[in-house]
Amino acid sequence: MGRTPVTVARGDGIGPEIMDAVLRILEAADAPIEPEYIDIGKEAYLNGWTTGITDDAWKSLNRTKLFLKAPITTPQGGGYKSLNVTIRTTLGLYANVRPTMSLAPFVKTKHPEMDLVVIRENEEDLYTGIEYQQTPEVVQSMKLITRPGTERIIRYAFEYAKKHGRKKVTCITKDNIMKRSDGLFHEVFEEVAKEYPELETDHWIVDIGLAKIADTPEDFDVVVMPNLYGDIGSDIAAQISGSVGLAGSANVGDEYAMFEAIHGSAPDIAGKGIANPSGLLNGAVQLLLHIGEAEAAENIQNAWLKTLEDGVHTGDIAKGGKSVGSKEFADAVIERL
Ligand code: NAD
Repeated sequence: MGRTPVTVARGDGIGPEIMDAVLRILEAADAPIEPEYIDIGKEAYLNGWTTGITDDAWKSLNRTKLFLKAPITTPQGGGYKSLNVTIRTTLGLYANVRPTMSLAPFVKTKHPEMDLVVIRENEEDLYTGIEYQQTPEVVQSMKLITRPGTERIIRYAFEYAKKHGRKKVTCITKDNIMKRSDGLFHEVFEEVAKEYPELETDHWIVDIGLAKIADTPEDFDVVVMPNLYGDIGSDIAAQISGSVGLAGSANVGDEYAMFEAIHGSAPDIAGKGIANPSGLLNGAVQLLLHIGEAEAAENIQNAWLKTLEDGVHTGDIAKGGKSVGSKEFADAVIERL
């Protein structure tokens, strides 16, 4: 069997450190992928590509249709577009799937029973990046919610729940205030829910909904949200499961798919060799499952779980206890393959 070409970007900040760790694990596991490297992010922005991505990088993505991406730093302020948003919208990656679960007792968490998946709408909402400077003192941002976009993500969430034997789908919006935009999202949720009578459903307003997730995450199963709430909610879920550094993310469209960690480039710890590669590794495992390489995915996931069970932890989850760096963590996973 041939190897599947995958476009790989090492990213900014902790990106190269965690990508090196993940690629070493993939290679040691003989995962049948062939990396095709591209430069995106800071390097591309500095070389005058205002979108943060070069033409050659697009060519690679168009060829492989699969992307394993380390986090990148989005420059602050005007003139630069968020590369993450550009990639998601250009490649039509409408569904962002972010599973988080407790690894207790091996990873400390106050929520040993939690096992929830955030399904985040990935192309609309406030992420259109359309903002108007109306006067020197007034800025307007566009929140875009469409019926087709909403229907697609909500159906995706229900189908995901069915396929993965989940019991409940929760919708989170702020439709008491944004009656039209979030109102439409909630309305479509109720309509689509009728097609899945076997699944339990509920709806929460975002403020109390995310507070409940922070307090009793074990009460949630699959949670579908518009883009911004999904971004925030999945970071909360990952953090309370032990660390934001644990969760991976699949960005899925009809033709392309991109896999990454849910966290950012962590400039505060970049270059120190201490970042947790687990989030990106879990993204890579999602990639392997996506291309039908279940055996390689399972092999890597089991070695990763055994590593955590054996108490080999990076600083973010060691929480003051003995910890290892990104490299040593990868070595420990490789030893357990
Ligand atoms: P962040 O997620 O990079 O970091 C938040 C905190 O979590 C930091 O204290 C960091 O040290 C810690 N952390 C994150 N990942 C970790 C890991 N793997 N191991 C250990 N600790 C980890 O969020 P931020 O600081 O707000 O953002 C930094 C940059 O990342 C910004 O430029 C932002 O735009 C970008 N960003 C990129 C993506 C992406 O590429 N998908 C996602 C989110 C943020």
